[in-house]
Amino acid sequence: MMKVLPCWNGIIIENKLRSFLKSICNYKGLEKFVNLNRNSKYRQLEVDWTSTFSCLNCDINNNETSVSSSKTKAQKVHLLIEEIPTIEQMKKSLLDLYDGWMCPICGLQDKTFNHVWTCSGHYDIINNIRDNTINNLLTWILEYNDNIQDFNALMALNIWDISYDPKVFTFVDLIKEIIPMSLSELLNSWTTKKNVVDALIQMRQFIFNEIFEEVWIPRCSHLKEFERSLGLTKKKKLEFKSVRSLPNNNNSNNTTIQYDSLDSVRNYIYFGKNIIEFYTNLTS
Ligand SMILES: [Zn+2]
Repeated sequence: MMKVLPCWNGIIIENKLRSFLKSICNYKGLEKFVNLNRNSKYRQLEVDWTSTFSCLNCDINNNETSVSSSKTKAQKVHLLIEEIPTIEQMKKSLLDLYDGWMCPICGLQDKTFNHVWTCSGHYDIINNIRDNTINNLLTWILEYNDNIQDFNALMALNIWDISYDPKVFTFVDLIKEIIPMSLSELLNSWTTKKNVVDALIQMRQFIFNEIFEEVWIPRCSHLKEFERSLGLTKKKKLEFKSVRSLPNNNNSNNTTIQYDSLDSVRNYIYFGKNIIEFYTNLTS
């Protein structure tokens, strides 16, 4: 029998080949993702990427990929890569249609992804989600270790601030699925690594469900109602899209469509639903 040793860049691969290829794919995707401009914050601050991706993958069982878990994962990835349909995001593909539109909740400019979470119209709801997140986290941690007397260090973290800050982690980053290392390390000082991962997965799932049900779906329904009042149907939007769609780059003279740098992340973790489909499926 002939024995073959797989190599990669001259290094013999001792892991199972399949899982090795998967991790290479993973890291390449991660590297590209972290290098995006919008993620410069995550290059400067310490992110617990292992837990971040554990949370992202937690609904998917090893051998089966159900439709609902793919959908959940796709939605989580949309949050992570900030491609949920904000008006600014939709303008990329439907410029004529959405130019000049404002945030459907507060009526101010819907410039960025972060506005969805810092919008004054959502403040009370997000405040409530944040408080319940803290309560749940304390409950889970106390189940693992009931000797903790003092949670001041946890409460002192900036991650509970409902604001966007380019220099520190806030609750907006937790909404985006990012797990800061400071949070993991603090929890690790109280209980085992496995318990910490379990608690973080539960915490992320809780935030995700609450945000989608309490903020995102109502926001989309609100926008949909408004569109309906203007006579905008899905068919009309698709007509607009085929007539005038912008390639996703900043150079309008460029005739070749450039591939978005997110492609490799998409190939690996994204389930191929485009923004418009995602948006219409969610609200129709
Ligand atoms: Zn707003």
